[in-house]
Amino acid sequence: MVDVLIIGGGVCGCSLLYRLSRYKLNVVLVEKENDVSLGTTKANSAIVHAGYDPEPGTKMARYNVEGNAQMEKLCQDLDVPYLRTGSLVLAFDGEQMQVVDTLFHRGRQNGVPGLQVLTPKEIREMEPNVSDQVKSALYAPTAAVISPWELAIAQAETAVKNGAQVKLNCPVTAMEKTEEGFRVTAGGEVISARFVVNAAGVDCDRVHNMLCPPSYTVYPSKGQYYLLDKSQGDLVKHVIFQCPSSQGKGVLVAPTVHGNLLVGPNAEPAEKGDVGTTAEGMDFVREKAALSVSGINYRDSIRNFAGLRANTDQEDFLVGETEVPGFFQIAGIKSPGLTSAPAIAEDMVRMLGEAGLPLQEKENFDGTRKVTRFKKLSHEERARKIQENPLYGKIVCRCETITEGEIVDALHRPLPPCSVDGVKRRCGSGMGRCQGGFCGPRVQEIIARELGVPQTQVMQDREGMYIITGETKQGGKNQ
Ligand SMILES: Cc1cc2nc3c(=O)[nH]c(=O)nc-3n(C[C@H](O)[C@H](O)[C@H](O)COP(=O)(O)OP(=O)(O)OC[C@H]3O[C@@H](n4cnc5c(N)ncnc54)[C@H](O)[C@@H]3O)c2cc1C
Repeated sequence: MVDVLIIGGGVCGCSLLYRLSRYKLNVVLVEKENDVSLGTTKANSAIVHAGYDPEPGTKMARYNVEGNAQMEKLCQDLDVPYLRTGSLVLAFDGEQMQVVDTLFHRGRQNGVPGLQVLTPKEIREMEPNVSDQVKSALYAPTAAVISPWELAIAQAETAVKNGAQVKLNCPVTAMEKTEEGFRVTAGGEVISARFVVNAAGVDCDRVHNMLCPPSYTVYPSKGQYYLLDKSQGDLVKHVIFQCPSSQGKGVLVAPTVHGNLLVGPNAEPAEKGDVGTTAEGMDFVREKAALSVSGINYRDSIRNFAGLRANTDQEDFLVGETEVPGFFQIAGIKSPGLTSAPAIAEDMVRMLGEAGLPLQEKENFDGTRKVTRFKKLSHEERARKIQENPLYGKIVCRCETITEGEIVDALHRPLPPCSVDGVKRRCGSGMGRCQGGFCGPRVQEIIARELGVPQTQVMQDREGMYIITGETKQGGKNQ
């Protein structure tokens, strides 16, 4: 019998798995895809929000501010890229200046430290490339940027290292209540669990309705982005927001932890699963971004992508026990869900404990992780690493300086990837200007070799995304 079954391997599910792996429990996370972090967690703005946006007194406000406070230490412990940039919300007219003042007071009520309203001169001293039309700005020094998918993966890997289980390619299709807990049908097997936590992202309503009468609906809202090459990465140093509206936090321009520039998102109604970008969406993003920062060179765009916000007909996050005792949910987790995930997980552990889950700590729990990032090492450290393992001397991804040693290491960590993009999310190969054009085939070969599978089984990303379907020169050189 599983003590806690978590449905969904996004940042919320993985954060909970990590927190629970500290205790002497049998904890399992089931994910329908072939890797964790393939839902909204891989396609968002990657901002650790300061916490002035949510209404005071909401769960969102509390988890946002608490999550922000926890994030830096968590990223240090798990060796996840994190950069405390601070953020600016720009106002361009009197009405927006009032919005900035409202956000300032709301932020103070929410307990956000260090907020200031800046003058145009102060803003342009901090950010010379911001529009000279700016009239005031809210400065939040605690905002930061992170690598969202790496946060989810690092927590899942560390949880697995501490005895938790992750079952991939394992969609939950049915659930029933039993005397001891639940019978959950997932990926063709039936799992008995004492407690179940629904962290299924935009599908949280579907999973909820497997056990409860419908009480909310997810109406996904799509946000589209430009990711620009590192040549644009220095254009701004802070996350540059515009004033929020009922549509969301507006179009931002932000540095990424990997040294690129991110521009977006828009907000438009979408169907579940629709993460395509459109010419209209991208035009809107460019037009809006130009109000904040001119001179962005879109010829240096290396990727467009889109993510889905899990908006529901309820304003706040839905976190807690449902009407079925023992069935909990982390649902309707729109922005700032990434920031909030560590605090939500902490609170969920408390709630499960109150519901009767015994929380006895393991004596040998190790909540840390360390990975080698060759390009970050000094010359001496690089030389030592290559001497220990010559694979660190072979550069596979030339744009991002990623070595074969790092790829092989990722393939032997507790939650190994099975696709070229899975390696990319863990090592950064293929994230540069050529977007994997050169290193992709090499990564594919390494995956096949290390995992002992034919190259035809190595996907680009999800199940069904074949790169090759067979050999063209079967029979060898002599034919
Ligand atoms: C455009 C955009 C910008 C954003 N920007 C920010 C930001 O800057 N900062 C911030 O804090 N937040 C931001 N967010 C919000 C944040 O990205 C999300 O709140 C967060 O990623 C949600 O994580 P999750 O784990 O709830 O969902 P997901 O990451 O979607 O994970 C849910 C998982 O459940 C799995 N699943 C679904 N159904 C089943 C099933 N039946 N069985 C098994 N598995 C299942 C899915 O495959 C998926 O992996 C943004 C969101 C969007 C869309």
